[in-house]
Amino acid sequence: MRIDIITVLPELLRSPFDHSILKRAIDKGLVEVNLINLRDYSTHKQKSVDDYAFGGGAGMVMSIEPIANCINALKAERMYDEVIYTSPDGELLNQKMSNHMSTLKNIIILCGHYKGVDQRVRDHFITKEISIGDYVLSGGELAAAVISDSIIRLIPGAISDETSALTDSFQDNLLAPPVYTRPADYNGIKVPEVLLSGHAANIENWRHEESLKRTKERRPDLLK
Ligand code: SAH
Repeated sequence: MRIDIITVLPELLRSPFDHSILKRAIDKGLVEVNLINLRDYSTHKQKSVDDYAFGGGAGMVMSIEPIANCINALKAERMYDEVIYTSPDGELLNQKMSNHMSTLKNIIILCGHYKGVDQRVRDHFITKEISIGDYVLSGGELAAAVISDSIIRLIPGAISDETSALTDSFQDNLLAPPVYTRPADYNGIKVPEVLLSGHAANIENWRHEESLKRTKERRPDLLK
């Protein structure tokens, strides 16, 4: 898989891909992540990528030219399954969307800034708009990192124990059960007995019950 992230702040996005599961997936060649500096596609002397909003008002707007130049240059090289724009008014990211995106071959993620991008970019170049939650970030970079992380960890081979990603929250519309590790007794605070029993079926049952209980308590909407 290939993820091309268009940003004015490539430095901000280096670290998330340089650690842990994401770094390993990249090192193994399971995914290629390219951080593309939008300013490289600006034809202005100052390399500017934004301008005043038509109609006035506070805040700059990202211009169509550099974004169009950049996306067209990428599209000339290969086909893209999706050209994603990170936006608070986009579709709310969820596990189902990440599962689907992890099966794609090439995607572009465009990070917005300031007041956002010229609407014509969204109308003519973007195929999918994703929000990571009902709050406003300063830029799309952290959203792009969240989207990419949720996708990359699902690519077969990214997590050493592949079943691990399938037992995480949301995969079956349930939240994950509680987890414990050694010591079994911490100053009298004990781990549930069943987990020490070695009885696989009982453990499986217990985990399922706990998942259900937790989902009913915290996210009853998932059970509908
Ligand atoms: N004026 C816009 C917000 C701009 S915030 C509005 O009110 O809708 C600047 C940029 O940060 C956006 O263009 C977008 O790319 C990114 N961003 C902000 N909040 C986000 C969110 N919840 N999810 C995804 N991207 C977000």
